[in-house]
Amino acid sequence: MNENYVTLTIGKQKNIALIAHDGKKAELIQWCEENKEILKNHFLCGTGTTARMITDKTGLPVRGYNSGPLGGDQQIGAKIVEGRVDVAIFFSDPLTAQPHDPDVKALIRIAQVYDIPIANNKASADFIIHSPLMNQEYNHKVINFKKNIEERAETL
Ligand code: PGA
Repeated sequence: MNENYVTLTIGKQKNIALIAHDGKKAELIQWCEENKEILKNHFLCGTGTTARMITDKTGLPVRGYNSGPLGGDQQIGAKIVEGRVDVAIFFSDPLTAQPHDPDVKALIRIAQVYDIPIANNKASADFIIHSPLMNQEYNHKVINFKKNIEERAETL
């Protein structure tokens, strides 16, 4: 294995972040209802309003962070960095400008950097949630950040 990368394991029970922009909240709540039996086997969190509405409408426990425009996306991004969010279901609204667009981009970017599955529409979310990997451990490779820092500190 190339030492520029380290292997991290996503456990059988996943930490799933749920986020929906206002125009997509009803769709995400419906999706959670449809997939309730699967979702209840995992740990759920989400941006403030989304989390609250999913819990109110489906009964699923969802730990809420701040509302998205008030930093909730960044909180979830930080959890991805810490290895505490394994999967993101993020129903962003492609037809409405968002005041926190930089945060939205940052979340998508950090999910790419840490190689976690992220769905930005219902079909992607369906493919993820019905994947056999949802019930298995999964090893993935992420950048070896310690080595990255050492090299940068020595060469810059
Ligand atoms: P919200 O945030 O769940 O608090 O509405 C979602 C978002 O807009 O990122």
